[in-house]
Amino acid sequence: MNLHEYQGKALLKSYGVAIQEGMVAETMEEAVDAYKKITEATGSDFAVVKAQIHAGGRGKGGGVKLAKNLEDFKEHAGNILGMMLKTPQTPGGMNGPGKLVSKILIAEDAYAPDFDACEEIYVSVLMDRGRKCNVIIYSTEGGMDIEEVAEKTPHLVHKEYIDPTLGLQAFQTRKIAFNLGLEGQAFKEMTKFVANLYKAFLGSDASLFEINPCLKTGDDRILAVDCKVTLDNNALYRHKDLAELRDISEEDPTEVEAKKFDLNYVNLDGNVGCMVNGAGLAMATMDIIKLSGGEPANFLDVGGTADAARVEQAFHIILKDPKVKAILINIFGGIVRCDRVAQGVIDAYKNMGNIPVPIIVRLQGTNADIAKKMIDESGLNVHSAVILQEAADLVTKVLEEA
Ligand code: GDP
Ligand code: MN
Repeated sequence: MNLHEYQGKALLKSYGVAIQEGMVAETMEEAVDAYKKITEATGSDFAVVKAQIHAGGRGKGGGVKLAKNLEDFKEHAGNILGMMLKTPQTPGGMNGPGKLVSKILIAEDAYAPDFDACEEIYVSVLMDRGRKCNVIIYSTEGGMDIEEVAEKTPHLVHKEYIDPTLGLQAFQTRKIAFNLGLEGQAFKEMTKFVANLYKAFLGSDASLFEINPCLKTGDDRILAVDCKVTLDNNALYRHKDLAELRDISEEDPTEVEAKKFDLNYVNLDGNVGCMVNGAGLAMATMDIIKLSGGEPANFLDVGGTADAARVEQAFHIILKDPKVKAILINIFGGIVRCDRVAQGVIDAYKNMGNIPVPIIVRLQGTNADIAKKMIDESGLNVHSAVILQEAADLVTKVLEEA
């Protein structure tokens, strides 16, 4: 689950991490009110307007603007609130439809009063599965595309690995501050910033905290100006307060519906709908579809109980995607018997009336032979296969014929 910038910053603040202060608004009235409060507190007329959507690169798409006075502010806030914001990270990128901005963050101008003395730093915390530990990635080249920095000047991206049993050590926070070229007060502030950021990462069971830019101000403070947080869904049960921050309007509607049925569904770009039991088999199925020249339209794990009701729910979810031109059902009958799944497919098919795309069913395991016979004799637009490769070839064949 992803958090909005303003939610991530509030979380950071609760762990003692210094942030660019701001207030969130959903209407122009709230926005102007926030602007007045913030400028009163800072004693400057400058404030930034920041679109709150679950995508980075907002600055590039016109979703982050510095306002110099109230009139200026009203113009920027008016433009951003309600806009369809396109960034390189919204679906379809800069050529896509963009994402609706229904909330904006009004924040203090963190770069004032000495813009030229500010330094934009990159800091993130995530897990390194290969090394079985957490890692802090940091660079003096913050503010812009860190991917580009990593590609063109990899020596400027540093990594500090944290042994999970020892935790983050004080020498490590000092090493980070040192490698970032900081001195004096800024050095001290950075060690505190990193230590508290790491506490926030652990305390919220996050899989990512990315601060870009993390700002060194002219007067040597260290602030989080941007904040991207991804929380581990499997740990949300022990963070009821964080679970409430979920913004369903930011999620894929079909994935939201699949979650209601406890189906493990991820929407993808291809045209072959997949219905599989077990995540490993689902991955293998997607691989073989690709190897046979097709493209999977989704990942869908129906779980152990692939009965008629579940198969029908899965059909509904897959068919919501207009890209789907064929469906491959690949079920291993271990816990569930294949003849029961076959009956489920046949019943679901009949219940749903007409399924407009060809279906290829591959059932293996207990009673697979009975299941194949049932499918073959059903008289429906369903093809059966025994070997996975055979099923994938059938998919390519029906797509070519269509
Ligand atoms: P992103 O484009 O989605 O990553 O949004 P960011 O929050 O990182 O903001 C984009 C850019 O806006 C930053 O890299 C800064 O250069 C600029 N920016 C953000 N906050 C301020 C601010 O308070 N003052 C000024 N002058 N620029 C800011
Ligand atoms: Mn950013």
